This record gives sequence, structure tokens and C-alpha cells, in this order.
Amino acid sequence: MRRAIRVRGLVQGVGFRPHVHGLARRHRLTGWVLNDGDGVAIEVEGPAGALAGFEQALAAEAPPLARVDSVSATAARPRGDETGFEIRASARSGPVATGVIPDAAVCDACLAELFDPADRRYRYPFLNCTHCGPRYTITRGLPYDRTRTAMAGFALCPTCAAEYHDPADRRFHAQPTACPACGPRLTMPVGDVMRRIGRGEIVAIKGLGGFHLACDARDAATVARLRRVKQRDGKPFAVMVANLVSARGLADITALEAATLTAPARPIVLVRRRDDGEAAATLAPAVAPDLAWLGVLLPYTPLHYLLFHEAAGRPAGTDWLEAPQPLALVMTSANPGGEPLAIDTEEAVRRLAGIADAICGHDRPILVRVDDSVVRVIDGAPVPIRRARGAVPATITLARPVAPVLAVGGQLKTTVCLTRGDQAVVSQHIGGLDDLATVGFFRETVDHLKTILEVTPVAVGHDLHPDFASTRLALGLGLPTVAVQHHHAHIAAVAAEHRIEGPLGGLALDGVGLGSDGAAWGGELLAVDGPRFERLGHLAPLALPGGDVAARQPWRMAAAVLHRAGLGHEIAARFADRPGAAVVAEMLTGGVRTPPTTALGRWFDAACGMLGVRPVAGYEGEAPIVLESLVTRPTVLADGWTEDADGALDLTPVVLALRQVNAATGADLFHGTLVAALVAWAAPRLAAAGLERVAHAGGCLANRWLAEGLAQGLRAAGFEVLLARLVPPNDGGLALGQAWVTALSVARATAVP
Ligand SMILES: [Zn+2]
Ligand SMILES: [Zn+2]
Repeated sequence: MRRAIRVRGLVQGVGFRPHVHGLARRHRLTGWVLNDGDGVAIEVEGPAGALAGFEQALAAEAPPLARVDSVSATAARPRGDETGFEIRASARSGPVATGVIPDAAVCDACLAELFDPADRRYRYPFLNCTHCGPRYTITRGLPYDRTRTAMAGFALCPTCAAEYHDPADRRFHAQPTACPACGPRLTMPVGDVMRRIGRGEIVAIKGLGGFHLACDARDAATVARLRRVKQRDGKPFAVMVANLVSARGLADITALEAATLTAPARPIVLVRRRDDGEAAATLAPAVAPDLAWLGVLLPYTPLHYLLFHEAAGRPAGTDWLEAPQPLALVMTSANPGGEPLAIDTEEAVRRLAGIADAICGHDRPILVRVDDSVVRVIDGAPVPIRRARGAVPATITLARPVAPVLAVGGQLKTTVCLTRGDQAVVSQHIGGLDDLATVGFFRETVDHLKTILEVTPVAVGHDLHPDFASTRLALGLGLPTVAVQHHHAHIAAVAAEHRIEGPLGGLALDGVGLGSDGAAWGGELLAVDGPRFERLGHLAPLALPGGDVAARQPWRMAAAVLHRAGLGHEIAARFADRPGAAVVAEMLTGGVRTPPTTALGRWFDAACGMLGVRPVAGYEGEAPIVLESLVTRPTVLADGWTEDADGALDLTPVVLALRQVNAATGADLFHGTLVAALVAWAAPRLAAAGLERVAHAGGCLANRWLAEGLAQGLRAAGFEVLLARLVPPNDGGLALGQAWVTALSVARATAVP
């Protein structure tokens, strides 16, 4: 018998063809396998039992980096003249529907070679195999073959070529494979890099998707200098340590966090910092000032491992990989002042002058800029806070196939999204579009996604805000456009990844988003039904004294709450140390330059301002992040909230109560009361609207106490609760929601009545 089999999913560049080849040999089948635009095509011939065993094992024994979405098989006419099973050249037929896979950390088999003095790839910083290494960052187009990658310029040496062509070798068709004889080279020896870091230098190191700035995280003076030259006031730095056991010296790490840290995606994981122990005490205070959470990541490229190997004194073998190591490296994106990552060495030399003391580059081009991903475990599962390397461009499966659409995200933490059939691809984190260079990166990303997906969108979704750079770019594409309200998009993103097309409730809680009434929203209870939504309620509006400037000055929001409570006369005295306190009091009294906002982010700021926690913030969201770090056990203030005449949820009582307590007590009180208030206020409204499930999203949901408290409270109230799991709950997820709403709107517009 003969079978024609089609495998779809992430099946190219992951060793799927050798896997098929091995299975065919095991089951003594003849035929062939090839990659094409649709995934993997197979024809196999042999006895029925062997064919069944082969088909069963196709997905069940798939290689580690593969994701098999579907296997379909049909009977074919037996040929009877084949002598064996062959791997055929890639075929181009029709548009591409298969995925490029994300970059993956170096695998154990490669690490064993890396530290085996007898191996020909001993200490070679670019070794990889079919089951590990760079992918998305080196891929120009599909089908995934060496000629369409950044390795095109490196001709395989005879030994590498023999491995590449040997179906029994674990480098069979490993497109980025290389060795010291034929592959890329570093511009600076690893020993020099570590010597420089050891004497307090900041070294820019070229990685997978960009350059990192690296320095010793235990060296207080150097970390402080890095902060100064990078103009990164207060924003925490991520720390790379050799392995899990070393990470446990710095933080309390749960089993799920450990699994996330060591997964092939190797994101930065936000873990609870230890306040005891020798290792924890060695970290420079300026790494993550006043934060209870630390961003930790483990090495993911051979070069990273070589740095730790050097620091350990170049031991032979791999036993040292399990031993605790004192070295901790700050690894922060080399992107001066919010610009996109530097990716080529000349660009790095130019842009990092005055920031890095030395540059360790290499000659393998980076084709796609990608930052490190950031993940936090919330409510029993990982949640991306920044989705980039290791996660992109994995596709997200939608409830059903839709027309191809593009969505362009918001203004900050921007991502873009393209749909193709029932798949959505959300780009890597692009960043804030208030920078011209980032706008270039944005265009570059849209073009690259269109190229690798071969999609021509029929419509583009964008934020309702007319002044966002992303909105202007969308309007300039010459496509039909759909303006999607910001908070609608937040909830739609969660609906999209959970494959929900029908009605659901949504709590969208963030800093700001333009509402459909032209006002600033951000504490919204919505009923979402595909392309439509209804506003069921919102937080009580707070005045923003001075407009946007108030969003960076939490004390002004505390003043706004005092004013709201009729205690405006307290403002000048309470904030006497703040220049302009009297003016702010007057603005509030006169209603001058005090636009209202319903954003929860500003209520958080008010709490911070009242408690004296970062009364003036250094970066977006700093005060609430520090406040969250102070929470130990949330407590509920009875009568800590009211409803105003419009039914809006008013948190004035709890914020006023913060005047009498210290910051730690206040942090517990605000978080506990906020969660109780939101649940008590939202539950009856959702029930009245006939909604049984509710999603929560928005920038505030990166706060673990809030996200977990709400999930538990709403579940206890009888609701099915949906959280963002595949894309960030913050503005990094907007594009997916916009794409889903846009696709559904287009479908509606073209539907036959
Ligand atoms: Zn490997
Ligand atoms: Zn070679």
C-alpha cells in the first residue's frame, strides 16, 4: 500500500525530515519526504501494519522543537519500483503556510561537544544542531534552507557537509550548522571578554537578535555606571547566571518557574528575590532598586556558556554545568535611550560609543532584531510580559479561519500581527513608537512578516487614537482600516488566544487608552461580542492635574483624590515638598487643565502618592511596580470603596485611608481592597449582562497580586476566568486583539445577508 501524508505545523528547520527518514527506515518503508510551502509532504509505501506504525509515530515521536498541528493521509497508487526512502529537495508550490520556528537554546548534546577537549567543536561559540540554535533571527524566507538564512555566506567544510548530508547524524540538514573551520567567528576571544568584565568594563556582546551590554552584576560601581551611561533611571536589569542552582541562590524559584527558566525559549523570568543568603547579598543594589522581583535568565547561546566556562577556569566535561557559580552578569539590551537593538557590528561600534567599553561581535549577520522575552508565572501558568526571542514567530490558532489582516498595535510596547487562515502571528516586541528609529524597526517587522508568511492583508486594524504613530502608518497603507477601541482590543486578544468568538465579559485595567466617547479610559468593564463591545461600567474618573505630566507624578494623583473627597485644602500642606503643590490644588479647584481619566493606573499612582512611594516616577509604571513589591499579605478595608451616582467604582475611601498607614501596610491594604472592590462591583454587572466568562487584561495585569486576586475572586463568584497566556496582557497583546476584531469586522462587512 502507499500513503500520501501531509504534516502541518512548525515542522521545518526542526529535524522533521530526518525524523521521517528514520521512521521510514525503522518500518522498512520506501518513498520520499520533502519540505514545501505547506509544511512537510511524505509518500510512503509498504505493508499496512508498517504504514500504520509509521503514521502513529510521526507526531508521537516528533523532534523536540517541532509542533505538529495536523497530520492528514490519503491512499496513493503503489509504485513498487522504489528501492529506498529519500529526502528530496525543497519544493516551492503555492504560498507558504508553514511556520518559521523561534530561536532555541543550545541543547545538551551540543553542550557536551562544546566542553569536550577532544571534540572538533570544543569551545566553538557557534555550534548548533537540528534540535537547537538560531532560527527566526537568521531566516530570510521560506522554505527554510541554508540559502535563505544568515548562513548563506558560509560554505560548509567537507566534514560539516558530510554531517549535513548524513541522515543518521544529528546535524542532518541542520541549516545553521558550522564549525571552527567553516563557520562564523568572534571578533574578540572569550578570555578577553571575561578579563574585561572582571576589571569592571561594560562589554557589548553580539547575540541572537541583537547586542547585549554585559557587566558583572556584583560590581556596584560598574552597574551604577551602566545605569548612568544607558540613561536607564531605576528600570531593573536582568541577571544571567550559569544554571538553576546558581539562580536559586538569588531567588526563590518554584517548579514552574524553574521549568520556564530552562525551557528552550530561555526567557527572562521574574522570580521572587531572596532577602537572605550569601549569593543574594552579592548583587549590586542598582540591579533592581527596591524591587522584590528579579529578572533572571540562564545562558542560551554557546557563547553565553563559554563566558561562564571561562569564569569557572575552563573545566573539561559538563559536570561544572550543574555546580553553583558565583558569577552573575547583567545582560541588558544594547539599545541606547529606547532605540531599537543594534544588530550589526559597525552599527554597534557607532551607536554604543560612550556606552560600551569594548565590543565582542561576530560575522554571522542578524537578520531580525529580537529582544529577550520576559515571563512571569501568574495564576499557575507563565504569562509573557514581553514576548520576543524564543516565542516569536510561533503562531496562535484562532477559533476559525479568517481573511488575512494586519494589525499594528498601539504606541508603547508595540507589536504587529498578521493573520493567515486560522493562524495569527504576533511579531516580537518592537517598543515605543515615539522614537523615529523604532518606527523604522516597525516597518521592517511588518515587511519581514509579510515576506515569511507570504500574506497580502486585505484590511488593517489600528487603535482608535488618531495620533499614535501606528495609526498613522496604518492609515497610510492604502487598505481598508478598522479602528479598534483600546480596551476592546485588550479583551479581544484574550478571546482570540482562547478561541472564543462569542460573548464574554472583560475587565480592562491599564494606564490609558482612548475611549469611544473621546475620553481617557483605563478601568473598564466591557461586554465583548466579536467585533462589538458595550461598556458595562468603569472606575470613577480622576482628574489629571496638568494632563499627561500627572501620569509620571503619582503625588498629583493623590492630590486629585484629596480634591475628589472634598479635602483639597490638605494638598498644599501634605505635598509641601513638591514644587507646584499649591498650583495643583488651584488647578483642581478651578477645573483648569484637569482632564478626567478612568484608568486604574492612575488610581494606583494615587495610592503610591499618598504613601510616598515614588511620588515622582523615573519610568512608566515605576511607582505601582515598587508598591507591588511591598505587598506581603493583601488585606481588605471594609467600606474601602463606594459607587458614585453613575454606578462607577470609586476607590476614594481606601486611598484616603492610606494617609494613616506606612507604605508596607498601605500596599497590602490597597491591593486587597482593590481586588475585593473590583470583584464585588463587576460580578453583579456581568451576571446581569448574562455573561458567564470573563477575561482580564491591560497593563495592570502584569501585577501578580491583582491578576491572581481577580482570577480567584471571579472564579469564587462563579465565573470562568480567562487570562492572557500566549501574548502579553499589556499593550504587547493589542495587535492580536485588533487583528481578531478587524478580521471579524471584515467578515461581517462582506457577509451575504
Ligand atoms: Zn544542539
Ligand atoms: Zn565545518
